[in-house]
Amino acid sequence: MFIDTHCHLHDEKLKDTDAVVDGYLKDGVEIAINAACCALTSEKGKELAEKYPSVYFATGCHPSDILGFDELEFERIYKLTSHPKCVAVGEIGLDYYWEGYDKQKQIDGFIKQIELAYQTKLPISIHSRSATADTLKILKDNKAKLAYGAVMHCFSGSVETAREILDLGLYISFAGPLTFKNANSLLEVAKYVPLDRCLTETDSPYLSPHPLRGKVNTPKNVSLITAKLAELKCVNIEELAPIIIKNAKTLFTKLL
Ligand SMILES: [Zn+2]
Repeated sequence: MFIDTHCHLHDEKLKDTDAVVDGYLKDGVEIAINAACCALTSEKGKELAEKYPSVYFATGCHPSDILGFDELEFERIYKLTSHPKCVAVGEIGLDYYWEGYDKQKQIDGFIKQIELAYQTKLPISIHSRSATADTLKILKDNKAKLAYGAVMHCFSGSVETAREILDLGLYISFAGPLTFKNANSLLEVAKYVPLDRCLTETDSPYLSPHPLRGKVNTPKNVSLITAKLAELKCVNIEELAPIIIKNAKTLFTKLL
């Protein structure tokens, strides 16, 4: 009934993967998409997808890992795009939050991987943190290369930014912060985004939703985020959950 469109099952915090997968399947999560941070975690995602029928994966280099994004790394990421369970390129984007980042390398890596997604006919899972203006500029400049779709994962921007993202034809994915007590403007965003452009995710093991904040997050908690979104949209969760799955399958066309 649910889908977690962005999680990190490869993360060592979730090392008992059998238990994590059993746990989410029992709670009605049918599909989990493992988002990668680098070539190694892309390959781990592939291994998980080959082991568990419910797991799919994305391949790509996260902006915070971009210093290691050389030709060899690119080749390893590229090689995975043709895998039948590789549903996206991601997560890719910009992250200016942590000090010491290499802005130009992040921008170059982001654009190169947008190109990769276009060439391999895959949608993109985008990470943007403290970098809204540059992210929007790159997406607008490369709009034609977004032909296979994209999602702003763990969206945390304003209604105005959401409008620009929607105008580019992208999906907006909500994560744990939607359930936080201080969510404020994110609640307005959730009310604003049309139902057919909404996705939900956990970004586990990070960002556990309320009332589990501070604990290790797992994909089964996507039900709490979907429930919050349903409340904001004034629909039943039984109505919303299939819509989210339909949206995910429209974007990630390799999902079965
Ligand atoms: Zn992530």
